[in-house]
Amino acid sequence: EEIVVDEFTSRYIDTFKIKYPDFKVKCKISDVKLFYTDPVLLGSVFQNLIENAYKYSHPQKKELNINITHEKRNIVFSFVDKGIGIPKNELNNVFKKFYRIENQYNQNGSVGLGLAFCKELVNFMNGEITVRSKINEGSEFIVTLPFEN
Ligand code: ATP
Ligand code: MG
Repeated sequence: EEIVVDEFTSRYIDTFKIKYPDFKVKCKISDVKLFYTDPVLLGSVFQNLIENAYKYSHPQKKELNINITHEKRNIVFSFVDKGIGIPKNELNNVFKKFYRIENQYNQNGSVGLGLAFCKELVNFMNGEITVRSKINEGSEFIVTLPFEN
């Protein structure tokens, strides 16, 4: 299905801004207008990554920058937060089912499935998801999807 990138992203971001008024979400789209994928699956990926960015950031620093670009035949979504970060030795684990890193922000209602689910969805869409992070500075989740499936 055809996705109009700016309409799709602003619809998601607006929902979060209403839900979390203290969340500063910015989105920058460069050189991409539309691409093709399943909007429900992509929406779930957005939902989980944005939810995590909010949840794992300190109260006064709830900021997320989403950058959307294209690279060869792929569209690349980068989600950059200024949150608590992920320890280097845990970076390979966060996409595993039921894997959580104990921290002050996931005491209740954290299952450890969000990122595992994202990975399943992105794989299903023939894409890739990766993470880079620095403890106490923030994290970047990068989703790469083919323009057409
Ligand atoms: P669920 O999403 O199922 O409610 P969860 O958020 O704990 O629970 P995941 O979304 O799979 O599970 O994330 C796994 C772990 O990775 C989390 O417990 C958290 O410690 C860490 N994590 C995920 N996203 C971030 C982020 N943006 N910044 C810092 N840590 C993160
Ligand atoms: Mg989560």
